[in-house]
Amino acid sequence: MDGKRRISLVIPVYNESANLPALFVALRDAAATVDGDVEFLFVDDGSGDDSLARLEAFAAEEPRAKVVGLARNFGKEIAVTAGIRHATGDACLTMDADLQHPPAMIGAFVDAWRGGAEVVVGVRTKQEDAPLWRRAGSAAFYHVLSRISETPVTRDATDFRLMDRVVIDEFNRFTERRRMTRALIDWLGFRRAYVSFEAPARPNGRSRYSFLKLVRLAASGFVSQSLFPLKIAGYLGVLITLFSGAFGLFILVEKYGLHDPLALNFSGTAILAVINLFLIGIVLCCLGLIALYVANIHAEVANRPLYAVRVRRGVDAPGV
Ligand code: UDP
Ligand code: MG
Repeated sequence: MDGKRRISLVIPVYNESANLPALFVALRDAAATVDGDVEFLFVDDGSGDDSLARLEAFAAEEPRAKVVGLARNFGKEIAVTAGIRHATGDACLTMDADLQHPPAMIGAFVDAWRGGAEVVVGVRTKQEDAPLWRRAGSAAFYHVLSRISETPVTRDATDFRLMDRVVIDEFNRFTERRRMTRALIDWLGFRRAYVSFEAPARPNGRSRYSFLKLVRLAASGFVSQSLFPLKIAGYLGVLITLFSGAFGLFILVEKYGLHDPLALNFSGTAILAVINLFLIGIVLCCLGLIALYVANIHAEVANRPLYAVRVRRGVDAPGV
């Protein structure tokens, strides 16, 4: 268990005042069952209620609790990132503050980690209170993303996940701003294990994700995980150019070459439409070409690390 003693629980909190007392109790209970040192690292994501005050009060009487209070609401992905950067443990486990990621499961994550996994992913088997539109939306999102993503995506894999210190150190090298934490962790690779859990209904309040916030998250998931949306214009362009080109050629030969043996009698408007379509196809092809360059710029600007390292023996980390 050398080097696998200290676990940081990273918990983003946004207007969760009503859930905090129960969370504190659950965290203490769970920590008591875990062999090792536990740190409770709360990140207040600019809550408008008294969440921050409650967290600070808890930290005043609980030496294992730490609080990072963000200056405003930056969104869960950034709040979690801030927490991971502040975590000091040999591993960190990110979990929601609303008890939908049951603290009682912590032991299972730690066991999988000590069993050799470097990333332990919580997979939700059941979600008690999600409305139908949200479940359907999430299913559609994963369906599309797993087809177009450049790295494999697991359905129902949640943000309830543990990372070993080696993974944390690599994760901390990401500099991109619009981010989806779990997609970045997936990108890194490493040895993974999965832990199933049932998400109970949210005890208090509604999901802190509005419809708009979710759409934005899904969009940044697509954009950061896949270049396919960028390439759509190009694909369409090729299709339209080929189709209208062939059709135009057919009209030329049929009408002007063979003097309309099929008696189709193409009107001038029809011919104009086909020429128009052809030109639109060419424009879309050009857009597709530009998209390829934009994709390169996108990759350069995101400036991801080139690779992630699991072990170094006998060599130091290079300066670059
Ligand atoms: N959260 C956050 N900032 C936000 C929205 C949510 O830190 O802008 C936190 C929230 O307090 C909770 C976790 O992220 O601990 C998950 O949020 P929520 O339960 O609303 O999401 P859902 O369970 O609906 O996916
Ligand atoms: Mg929740």
